[in-house]
Amino acid sequence: MYKSSLKYILLLMFFSANPYFCSYAGTSETLPKFPTIELLLEQISHAKNRTVTARSEDIKSQIVAEWSRLLSELPSTQEHASFLSSHGLTFTFSAKESSLASFAPWEPSIIKINGKILGEAIEALKSESVSSQKIAHIVAVKTLPLIAHEIRHAMTQDRLKTHGIGSCMFLENEMISHTDEVGVIADMKKHKPILWQSYSIPHIEDHYIKLEQAWNQPGPEKFLDFVFLRYGNKDISVFSTSDELTQYFNPKITERRNARQRLNNMLSEPDPELAKQIRDLILKEDKVLSLFQDAFNIVSDSTRWADLKSSYTSEIQRVIAQSWKWYR
Ligand SMILES: [Zn+2]
Repeated sequence: MYKSSLKYILLLMFFSANPYFCSYAGTSETLPKFPTIELLLEQISHAKNRTVTARSEDIKSQIVAEWSRLLSELPSTQEHASFLSSHGLTFTFSAKESSLASFAPWEPSIIKINGKILGEAIEALKSESVSSQKIAHIVAVKTLPLIAHEIRHAMTQDRLKTHGIGSCMFLENEMISHTDEVGVIADMKKHKPILWQSYSIPHIEDHYIKLEQAWNQPGPEKFLDFVFLRYGNKDISVFSTSDELTQYFNPKITERRNARQRLNNMLSEPDPELAKQIRDLILKEDKVLSLFQDAFNIVSDSTRWADLKSSYTSEIQRVIAQSWKWYR
């Protein structure tokens, strides 16, 4: 139900921000799963068993260096480059992520990279006898829009804090990041046209094509549909009604509190290593709980909620206007 009212509001934003609204539309990508105890214990056991070859690690380090270099080089990612260095964001590799890159609001200085997807891309290029230095460059170019998307999540979160709003998790975060991402795709196509067309990373390429197809449809509906399809059932819009927000946040807060209690009950674990892991999980659970609680407190206060909506409206409009520039 909230989707129809949100769409109406977002349509207005697109029309007011985009001088070319007749010929273009907008886009979107993924918040990681919330860290349930089961998921985190699974991650711990996976990390213990993980083995990565030194050679593969070398190329991954080169890719990270290439991302930083390209962010500074590309006109559309100047904001990202300065945020990356001024806020000390770091990239970490994990094989458990569902998408190539992800950002979690409870770990705002980390961008997690799916080492498996990246490893497959590296191996595919190796089989074509591409040199390792060139592999790093190609993979960095082809993945940069997704990296920009995740950095934008960190920037959105930081921007809300500077407005005294605190950390929030809403569907609009994806609107902003996907709009940003599609602009970086267009800019990269202009910046590295031959390389962009000559190589593709299958899973990622498919995402870019769908994103741009949605963006290039007349009117923003296709773009908004794209975002809703991926996140609409998982995240909630800040433009939802008060009742809808309560119905969304209350069970989540209860669920996190229960998870915290279950972890408390596990603290008597005698194994020191496992006990430490449980304490780490408690710290993480506390962060997630406070994020939900913060968001709920804000939308329960009419003045703060109005500020939050206004902040999202202006940022969505700003990012949309920015992304159109690369399609001219
Ligand atoms: Zn995202």
